[in-house]
Amino acid sequence: MGDFSIKNEYFNLPGVCPKCHEIALDYEPMHREDDGMCWYPYKCEKCGLRGEEWYKLEFSGHNIYDENDNIIELDA
Ligand SMILES: [Zn+2]
Repeated sequence: MGDFSIKNEYFNLPGVCPKCHEIALDYEPMHREDDGMCWYPYKCEKCGLRGEEWYKLEFSGHNIYDENDNIIELDA
């Protein structure tokens, strides 16, 4: 269980480097999993830490286009 103390030294906030706490993450394109989770690989431009930032996707609704290309937001 030696890595518990190491884990506690890292920040766990969106958009912030867990190691150096800078907002300097360079993201690669999103990967999407079948269970609605998605993640972005990143590398910190300040300290070089590499990692993955995970998100849970939540359905918000459809927008559709009519024959004139106007966007129509469907009611939930
Ligand atoms: Zn960093």
